[in-house]
Amino acid sequence: SLIFAPDQKPKILLMGLRRSGKSSIQKVVFHKMTPNETLFLESTNKIESENISNSSFVQFKILDFPGQIDFFEPSFDSEKIFGGHGALVFVIDAQDDYMEALNRLHQTVLRAHKVNPNLRFEVFIHKVDGLSDDTKIETQRDIHQRANDELVDAGMEQIHLSFYLTSIYDHSIFEAFSKVVQKLIPQLPTLENLLNLFISNSGIEKAFLFDVLSKIYIATDSSAVDMQSYELCCEMIDVVIDISDIYGKDEGTQVPFDKDSSSIIKLNNATVLYLREVSRYLALVCILREESFDKQGLIDYNFLCFRKAIQEVFDVRKVQLQQQLTTSLP
Ligand code: GDP
Repeated sequence: SLIFAPDQKPKILLMGLRRSGKSSIQKVVFHKMTPNETLFLESTNKIESENISNSSFVQFKILDFPGQIDFFEPSFDSEKIFGGHGALVFVIDAQDDYMEALNRLHQTVLRAHKVNPNLRFEVFIHKVDGLSDDTKIETQRDIHQRANDELVDAGMEQIHLSFYLTSIYDHSIFEAFSKVVQKLIPQLPTLENLLNLFISNSGIEKAFLFDVLSKIYIATDSSAVDMQSYELCCEMIDVVIDISDIYGKDEGTQVPFDKDSSSIIKLNNATVLYLREVSRYLALVCILREESFDKQGLIDYNFLCFRKAIQEVFDVRKVQLQQQLTTSLP
């Protein structure tokens, strides 16, 4: 089932100086590359764009800014690049001197805001795996302060920048992306309510709605997210994808998932992981106590209600009807 119409997909632009880590982020989040393999990535010299909208809920474009891209150059179509519903993620290498990056960030934000005042700005203070905890906090404070001071000086203090500490060597990059994507989903409060209802009626402790390909979670119930639970669920998705890649691949489809995909993993600490497919792109992954799983029938039933509600939220029938209409027209 097609849950998200292409025009509902959030668009994410990834920008930043050369070697800041953009390609690595893209490869690790969307292509399952291991962090160590990124050491051998070639640097790019042009504006690169990748559209992964066929396989993911997120529509994702990378703009590599090599050296001196001139926003006012005719070949740079800023209307096209900055337009639309989305977010601009600016990557800053925190292990390097970041003054030039801040300067670039400032110019980029001013230009993009002028073209599209609704674009969201997200700053990834990246490669923080190399920094001590104290330095991380100090770097974030310093970058935050300088970036905002510059906006104030330019009389643009109404522009809001959000900051995240990220690294491809742990789950922080996925967590940051999850937050960025969630801000772009207008139905988020409804999704959260549905998840709350589902877990409280099923004896489940925590549930994440995942974009399967990227392992970004696009919603969760309102209980606090702890990193370990999130990592556990990510690992579950990897296991399920690896197994269905081997055993379950239909010819012609890229996504090793179908509407009946479901998996259960029992851990030795009396915890159960329960995964169900929601759409081609989305899966629900839940964590629960083993004793709650005695009522699996109830959980399965509640899940079907949950899936139906989600489909209604995104008005899947309207999309399907439109498709039927266009295909049945003479
Ligand atoms: P790009 O030019 O912005 O696309 O940068 P690349 O993705 O080519 O990355 C440049 C270098 O930074 C590569 O050697 C990566 O291995 C390294 N890198 C990327 N992300 C991280 C990170 O989170 N931590 C560390 N320590 N290195 C990273």
